[in-house]
Amino acid sequence: MANYKVSINREGCIGDAICTALSKNWFMDSDGKASFHSETIEDHEYGSNHEAEISCPVAVISVRKIS
Ligand code: SF4
Repeated sequence: MANYKVSINREGCIGDAICTALSKNWFMDSDGKASFHSETIEDHEYGSNHEAEISCPVAVISVRKIS
């Protein structure tokens, strides 16, 4: 089982909510930018978070393997 770390450069988020449509880990915060529920995710959550990562039009989402 692998673990992954999710991060976002919120300054660059343009608030189009694409990530929230692709992964339940992502939601639109009160400031109009995306945030995540869990910073550390497991294998079964990787696919949807990676979809959010590669679909973000300004590439501010990162999902990296940590173990
Ligand atoms: S897909 Fe990217 S730009 Fe769009 S809300 Fe999510 S983090 Fe922000």
